[in-house]
Amino acid sequence: MKVVKKSDDPLLDGYYTGAGATCLDYVNTVDWRTSDHPAEFLASGAATDAWLAFALDHPPLRLDTDAVADLCRFREALYRLIVGAPQAGDLDLLNAALSAVGDRGRLVAGSDGYSWAAEATATGLAVLKAALARSAADLLVDSARLARVKECHGHGCGWLFVDESRAGNRRWCSMQTCGNREKARAHYRRTRSQT
Ligand SMILES: [Zn+2]
Repeated sequence: MKVVKKSDDPLLDGYYTGAGATCLDYVNTVDWRTSDHPAEFLASGAATDAWLAFALDHPPLRLDTDAVADLCRFREALYRLIVGAPQAGDLDLLNAALSAVGDRGRLVAGSDGYSWAAEATATGLAVLKAALARSAADLLVDSARLARVKECHGHGCGWLFVDESRAGNRRWCSMQTCGNREKARAHYRRTRSQT
């Protein structure tokens, strides 16, 4: 299992990576997604830059409000595709993001192996969206891995992760947060029912 990394940036309070795929760490930038009070981590250009630095080791993009909104809309399309409930146009958005930088671009050699690099003509946001689209595309075409994508059992949490446990029984996005909250709730219920 990947190590869960928690941010200590106040702009990302409560956010952590470790979902097992970049695209899932991206869709998890909505907190309490399935509750009636979802919270947006990518709420501003500054918060988006904090997330880029923390989650992707990516330089700041200093996006304006429209570009941040675009990134959030794009995220929701990827989310729907990953959970198997796409709306019309979602797949087109993914494909447009891929093709905007020449699909997979070209292969470059780095210190820890080979990786895909975007075409040099593409600019910041397009390169970022292509990388996120590629991560989602890699997950979508890998049916065995996609079948291991689960939603956290935490009430209202809605975060996704790849269950890499051997038994396939991971329930929580993080034991430190949702797992502990649920344990505390169960304990509260038990102690209440005894009185
Ligand atoms: Zn959770």
